[in-house]
Amino acid sequence: MEFKELGLPKDILRAVTKLGFETPSEIQEKAIPILAAGKEDFVGLAQTGTGKTAAYGLPLIQHTNFEDKHIQGLVICPTRELCMQITRDLETFSVYQNNPNITAVYGGASISDQIRKLKKGAHIVVATPGRLLDLIDRKAVKLKSVQRVVLDEADEMLNMGFKEDIDNILKQTPAMKRVWLFSATMPKAVKRIANNYMLNPVEIVVGKQNSVADNIEHCYFMMKERDRYAALKRILDYFPDIFGLIFCRTRRETGQIADKLEKEGYNIAALHGDLSQAQRDAAMKKFRERTVKVLVATDVAARGIDVLDITHVIHYNLPDDIENYTHRSGRTARAGRSGKSLALVNTRETYKIRQVESLLQTKIKQSVIPDSEAICEKQMYALMDKIVSTKVDEEAIDLYWPVFYKKLKDIPAEEIVLKFISLELNAFLDYYKDSEDLNASLEKSTPGKGKGKERGRERGREGGREGGKFNRNLTGAKRRFFISLGEKQNLNKGALLRLVCSETGIESFHMGRIDIHSRHAFFEVDKLMSNQILPKIKEGVYEGKSFEVTPAQGGENEKNKGKKKKR
Ligand code: AMP
Repeated sequence: MEFKELGLPKDILRAVTKLGFETPSEIQEKAIPILAAGKEDFVGLAQTGTGKTAAYGLPLIQHTNFEDKHIQGLVICPTRELCMQITRDLETFSVYQNNPNITAVYGGASISDQIRKLKKGAHIVVATPGRLLDLIDRKAVKLKSVQRVVLDEADEMLNMGFKEDIDNILKQTPAMKRVWLFSATMPKAVKRIANNYMLNPVEIVVGKQNSVADNIEHCYFMMKERDRYAALKRILDYFPDIFGLIFCRTRRETGQIADKLEKEGYNIAALHGDLSQAQRDAAMKKFRERTVKVLVATDVAARGIDVLDITHVIHYNLPDDIENYTHRSGRTARAGRSGKSLALVNTRETYKIRQVESLLQTKIKQSVIPDSEAICEKQMYALMDKIVSTKVDEEAIDLYWPVFYKKLKDIPAEEIVLKFISLELNAFLDYYKDSEDLNASLEKSTPGKGKGKERGRERGREGGREGGKFNRNLTGAKRRFFISLGEKQNLNKGALLRLVCSETGIESFHMGRIDIHSRHAFFEVDKLMSNQILPKIKEGVYEGKSFEVTPAQGGENEKNKGKKKKR
C-alpha cells in the first residue's frame, strides 16, 4: 500500500515524501484511513517504534486549521523526551502548512518560555500531564476549542501515576472532542479510560500484544552476582560497534556503573534522575550525535528515547516491574531495523527470565559470556574493518611523510602493520590474558578455573590465571559435530572457529568445546543454533581438501567415527 491511498491531502503527502518515508507501516496503513476520515474515537495498540507518531500525527495536522489561532489538537504523553520528539515529528509533518505553531510543554524547563510560545497562538499542544495542569491553573492554556486529544503511551502514563492528572485534563476539554488513544498494552486502567472518555472507539491491534518487535533477538547471560559488572564489560568489548543502552534498576546503580565504566575508558554517558536537566540534555545530545556510544540509564529517564539504529539494549539488572522489559527492549529495532536485547541474570534470578518469557510468549535463549579469545578476535576484526575503510588524505600526510619515512624505513612493512595492530589491541590482550570463565550454571558453581582479578581491575592491568585456550566450560545445551579435517590439514582451534563461523554466520560465542585430532576434529555449538550447521557446512573444501561435517553421537562413538575416517 502507498501513502497516497490512505486519504491524506496533497500538502501532507509532500511532507511525507520529504521525510523519506516510502511505504506506510502497519499501524499507519490501518489507522490513517480511519483518523483521516476524522469521525471516530480510536484505540491503537502498538509498540513504540511502529510508526505510531505519524499514524496519528499526519491526520492531526490534516484536521488542524492553521488560520485559526486556537488550540485544536492536544497530545498528552508521559515524558519530556517523548514530548520533544513528538513535537519535532509534528513540525516535520507540517512543513507545508502556513505558520504552524506546535508547542511542547513539559516539566523541568522554563514555564515562562512555554507561556510566551503559547501566547503566540498554539494550534497544537504536546504536553506532559503535570506541566499541562500547571499551565491550566495559571490560565495560560485553554482547552475549550480542542477537537482532538491524543493519549500517547497511555499505559506508561498510568504506570507513572498520571491517572488523576489525565482525568483532570480530559474534564477541561469539550464533550464533542475525539479521543485517540495509543498504548503498547491494554491493562484494566487503560480500558477504564477508554470506557470513560470514548464512544464506541475503533480498535486496531498491531503486532502481538504485550510483545516487542519480532526483529529483536532476546537472550540472557548467567553469572554469579559478583561477576555481573565484569560480564557487562565483556559484552561491551565483544560488540565493538555497539550503539546501545544499558538499563540499571536504580539511579544509584546507574550512577555507579556509569562512573566505573567511564573511569575504565568506555565511551558512555549516564542518564538518570539525580542529574540536572542540563546534564541529561547534554548526555542525550552526545548520544544522538554519537559522540558517546552507550547510555547507562534508569527506566524512567530513558522513556521516550527515540533514537534510530540502537543496536543493543542491555539489562544490567532486569526491571522490578517486568512489564518494563518491553519498554526497554522497544528502544532497539525501531522502524524495521533489527536489534539485540541482552539480560544479565545471576543464578537465583532465572524466575525473572521465566517472567519475561511469559510476557513475550517466547523462549529466551541463554548465551555464553564471551571469553578472551572471542573478544580479542572480535576486536581484531573490527580493527581490520576500520583499517580497510579508513580514507587516506594523501595531501595532508605528504607534509609529515618525510619524518615518518625516516623513522620507519628500516622496519619491514609487515612488522609496521603488526605494531599498529598491537597499538590498538595490546590493552585488550593484556586485560583478558588469563581471564576467567564468568559463565555460571544452576547445577554447579562458577566454572572458572583460575583466580582472575578481572573484577574491578582496570583495563591493561595484570590479571589472574585461568584455564586453557578455547577450553570454555560452557553452560547451556550444546550439540557436538564431527569434521573430517585435523592437524594434518593445518587445522587448529582458531582456524576451525573461523571456518565454522564464517560459513554458517554463527557468532563465535555460540561455539563450545573444540577438540582437534590429527585427521579429524569435534566442535560444539549452542543447541539453539545447531540447526544452522548442516544446511550451511555439510561439506566443503578447506585448503584444497574436501571435508564433511556430521553430527557426532557422543562419547566413544565420536572417537570410533574419527578412527574410521583416519586411514
Ligand atoms: P514511532 O513509533 O512513531 O516512534 O516511529 C519510530 C521511527 O520510525 C521514527 O523515527 C519515525 O521517523 C520512523 N518512521 C515512522 N514511519 C515510517 C515510515 N512509514 N517509513 C520509514 N520510517 C518511518
